[in-house]
Amino acid sequence: MKLWNKFKEFLNIPPREGAEFKDLAVFIRSLSVIFLFYFVLTSVALFATTYYLISLLEFLCCGLFLMVFVYTYRNRTNFAMNCFGAVIVAAPTILALVTGWKTNFQWCLIVEILVLYFSLEIDKTTKHRLFQVISVDFIVLAILTHVFPNNLELPYGWAIYFHAVSGLFYVLVIHVIAFFYSNKFNVAEENLRDINERLREMASTDALTGLTNRRVMHEELTLLAYNHERDNTPFVIAIADIDFFKHINDTYGHEAGDHVLKQISLIFKETMSGKGKIARWGGEEFLFVFENATGNQATGILDNMRKQIEHTTFDFKDNHIKVTLTVGIEDYSRISGVEATVSKADAKLYQGKTEGRNRVVY
Ligand code: GH3
Ligand code: MG
Ligand code: MG
Repeated sequence: MKLWNKFKEFLNIPPREGAEFKDLAVFIRSLSVIFLFYFVLTSVALFATTYYLISLLEFLCCGLFLMVFVYTYRNRTNFAMNCFGAVIVAAPTILALVTGWKTNFQWCLIVEILVLYFSLEIDKTTKHRLFQVISVDFIVLAILTHVFPNNLELPYGWAIYFHAVSGLFYVLVIHVIAFFYSNKFNVAEENLRDINERLREMASTDALTGLTNRRVMHEELTLLAYNHERDNTPFVIAIADIDFFKHINDTYGHEAGDHVLKQISLIFKETMSGKGKIARWGGEEFLFVFENATGNQATGILDNMRKQIEHTTFDFKDNHIKVTLTVGIEDYSRISGVEATVSKADAKLYQGKTEGRNRVVY
């Protein structure tokens, strides 16, 4: 088991300098190792049954597989892949012609058709051309090996051995190819999903505070208005604006202002958890929506939050910053609609500002 893990680690070493696609290198490596074993094991059977010449040919191919294997560690994966393709087309063609259809060497051509499409260097048209050449080779082989039967006659025991080895080999090869294809597909799919998720998040949240942005809140309000129309579900809109925020920027710097916005947003989120939605409506303005609630309930909650903020000190570097909040609240009414309800909440907010700030007006 330890040895197997070591071997897997060795197979997974990235190509030198990491300039090439690691997956492709590992793929060609894995296949060349499997082919190497296949050719060694079948050539043993052929050697033992005195088919020396074919056995020698297989041994020579093993040398080529070894070379392909080494090249994948040396930033020459594409070259290795092309060599590999050439070997697994040329060698099986000769082997099938000499030993017949029943020895199964011709199926290596089908493996090459699958591997061919992995190549990054070969363009699509060339791939199609090569596919045609390999297909013709395969069909010609099928005809020739039956018109001029030249079947290898292995002793019974060796024949079983030979077929067991080739059976195992093709199962393994198909497994490796299927694994790499599906892996590539899955990884690409996952990346795409992640990117989409991130894009959606970026498009719907405010970068500084992580709150919902104005555009998305507009959509939410439209949806709530629609629900209200359908089943009369009440909701309340409140707009909050930080008092004298310009003064905070001017006194402590813009960075300190940003810090306050981030920290105060955490308090907003905490307050609204399970009660409704919150969005950054403008620079230091925030819109709260209470679903299935009355204006009085919203006033109670927001006034408590206002007091909490009044008693909070926002520490930034050596500064201890105090801020207050003014809020305007309005029940949604279908007669007014979303825009007018927001305007009414806004008007109450400014009423609060003129009356001395740090208050909730309902
Ligand atoms: P009022 O009590 O009347 O609301 O006074 P105010 O100073 O808060 O109002 P005003 O609208 O004059 O100023 C808002 C300031 O908020 C101006 C702007 O520079 C600042 N601001 C808006 N967005 C950001 C931001 O993302 N970061 C920082 N640091 N400041 C911001
Ligand atoms: Mg303000
Ligand atoms: Mg403002």
